Amino acid sequence: MMTPSHHAYVPFVSVDKMMKLVLTLGIERVLLDLVAEIEADFRRWPEFDKTARVASHSDVGVIELMPTSDGETYGFKYVNGHPSNMKNGLQTVTAFGLLADVATGYPVLLSEMTILTALRTAATSAMAAKWLAPAGATTMALIGNGAQAEFQALAFKAVCGITEVRLYDIDPAATAKCVENLAGRGLRTVACTTPEQAILGAQIITTVTADKQYATILTDNMVGAGVHINAVGGDCPGKTELHRDILLRSGIFVEYPPQSRIEGEIQQLPADHPVTELWQVIAGTATGRTDARQITLFDSVGFAIEDFSALRYVKSKLAETGLFDNLDMIADPNDPRDLFGMLLRAA
Ligand code: NAD
Repeated sequence: MMTPSHHAYVPFVSVDKMMKLVLTLGIERVLLDLVAEIEADFRRWPEFDKTARVASHSDVGVIELMPTSDGETYGFKYVNGHPSNMKNGLQTVTAFGLLADVATGYPVLLSEMTILTALRTAATSAMAAKWLAPAGATTMALIGNGAQAEFQALAFKAVCGITEVRLYDIDPAATAKCVENLAGRGLRTVACTTPEQAILGAQIITTVTADKQYATILTDNMVGAGVHINAVGGDCPGKTELHRDILLRSGIFVEYPPQSRIEGEIQQLPADHPVTELWQVIAGTATGRTDARQITLFDSVGFAIEDFSALRYVKSKLAETGLFDNLDMIADPNDPRDLFGMLLRAA
């Protein structure tokens, strides 16, 4: 007789284990590794099953599911975006995600993704800048100094060689937090009191603010020739950060156009306005920056493949680090048809 069992344990990476994993491996190493993983998956973009994320909007925020599959592994992320949460002591963005084996449908990883989203978003931003920013960029303006900010700063240091970050936030306490967190990490930080001061001498401008409205973090006259803009905060219908005129002067690069047309800065433009898919630049089938005076814009909204890459990366580190728990999440009787008998035996 078979031993009664209902266990098909799923490796689970809690917030605590994720923090230990990132600190054990080193934050900048994780960011560099994630760039390599995301880049490799962007190169094989056509192999993925792609869909614009499924978004459920409310007056105060959005809850989204972000699925994709490469035919062998399926993944999805649950993520929210609630700009007003912060005032109530809650995160603007929280997330968790899952990988599953396409052959059986069984989950193979469940993980926290609030921290992992900040890491993968920063890695994707820095990856885009690696391909698009002007050569020799050393200074980045970082407008919006909330939860994502330090991750962005460190990714641009590790991946693009940025040495100075010029910080601005409408809330000086956020900037002060950022300066403190980045101290001793090899970056010169300059706390600025206006966005104009922040962009002085910056070859890269990152906007990562949270506000559920058409905001104008950058006006047209603030953006000079040759700059690379990394626009991260505008990622929902009705939520943008850049004045429309900037878009009209820029070479625009996006993740997945059907999603970016709805959620990105380009929601301000006609649906046929030309944009370049970032994966094609990486795969060598589209041109990136055309010349030193071109303004390049990465209109980031976050795409499911980035989460898939990040989850696979985490999974690849579990055996080496042991930083996971076994989760009893899948009912799996020895006799697959005896689910009811398994239930009765638990009495
Ligand atoms: P957060 O709430 O922790 O921080 C946002 C910061 O922006 C706050 O410190 C706030 O004071 C500041 N801010 C608001 N309006 C501003 C303005 N006009 N000028 C300067 N600063 C301003 O949020 P977060 O987790 O850091 O996320 C920031 C944004 O990035 C959110 O909109 C989020 O949805 C978006 N996001 C995008 C991606 C992506 O892949 N593109 C991924 C994660 C988060």
